Amino acid sequence: MPSPYLERQARLRARLGSEPAQAVVVSGPANIRYLTGFTGSSGQLLLTPSATVLVTDFRYAAQAAAELAGVAEIRVERTNLWVGIRAAVADLGLTRVAFDKERLSVADREQLEQGAPTDWVAAKGAVGELRIVKDPGEVSAIRAAAQVAAEALKASLVAIRPGATEIDVAAKLEFELRRLGSQWHPFQPIVAAGARSALPHARPTDRPIAAGDFLLVDFGASVAGYCSDITRTFVVGAKATGRQRQVYQVVRQAQARAIGQIRAGMTGKAADSVAREAIAREGLGEGFGHSLGHGIGLEVHEAPRLSQLNPGPLAAGAVVTIEPGVYLEGWGGVRIEDDVLVLEAGAELLSDGQTDLIELT
Ligand code: ZN
Ligand code: ZN
Repeated sequence: MPSPYLERQARLRARLGSEPAQAVVVSGPANIRYLTGFTGSSGQLLLTPSATVLVTDFRYAAQAAAELAGVAEIRVERTNLWVGIRAAVADLGLTRVAFDKERLSVADREQLEQGAPTDWVAAKGAVGELRIVKDPGEVSAIRAAAQVAAEALKASLVAIRPGATEIDVAAKLEFELRRLGSQWHPFQPIVAAGARSALPHARPTDRPIAAGDFLLVDFGASVAGYCSDITRTFVVGAKATGRQRQVYQVVRQAQARAIGQIRAGMTGKAADSVAREAIAREGLGEGFGHSLGHGIGLEVHEAPRLSQLNPGPLAAGAVVTIEPGVYLEGWGGVRIEDDVLVLEAGAELLSDGQTDLIELT
């Protein structure tokens, strides 16, 4: 299969034509990996109409040479990356260069401006938009990451019982994720028991799980650099109460409805509204305080957002999470999250979509 990197660089170059700058500095490991395949953590990439230059440091010299053959020129800079970028800009005779205003700090900008007079243009990074539509290789990596996550959860169920702490469950899950092939955790797993499940982003604690608790587990795997992001909510050590069952079913139906209706061309806002209205109709609208979902790929949160704040249409080929939740302070919460590929005809599930209420008794 031909390397996708030159084609991706060409797409970014095509955008340069309509920019006021002659060239662009691409920042952020995920953006640089997308354009070149470089997997190091230290780098800045300069892209001009005719050149692609990665500036990295000594630690990554050999790795960059192996990963970037035929894809980018490499400059190894021993002082700091900005010195290398300034030197490349001077060598190429560039006078007007854009940088990603969302990724650079004020100190980074000061570094850039220390060199020969160059007009540095603060611009919104364009690579994030290029990354929205996934190619088949990216989709299969996300699907594989979802599969690893599902298997790891299955292997971790033995650790979920009354008396075990949230940290016990997180540790088992983290171990199984790595054992089953996740390169690293795309984010620290969330494991929240009982009333703590009402905290959407709870960190695992040494709180023991009590019989009858909800247990919310939000986690993902990473395969070939691509992430999955899945949430399941269980009832532990007892049958669900009527109220637990009711809240669970409201969230589950909202998620099913959103997965059933989302398709390319629908706006992020409209997708969010499908789940939001379903939950509001059941009188639980106040408990759904976050947006419906987000893009996933090389990063666990990327464009597009499924949110009231995104009036733009969803592109065919985007991969997003669908994760409605209801959180009732002092009582508990339910979130159910799956990963889908958005197509013209509708959504294709990439995660297992196993959302029946599971009572781990
Ligand atoms: Zn998640
Ligand atoms: Zn998520």
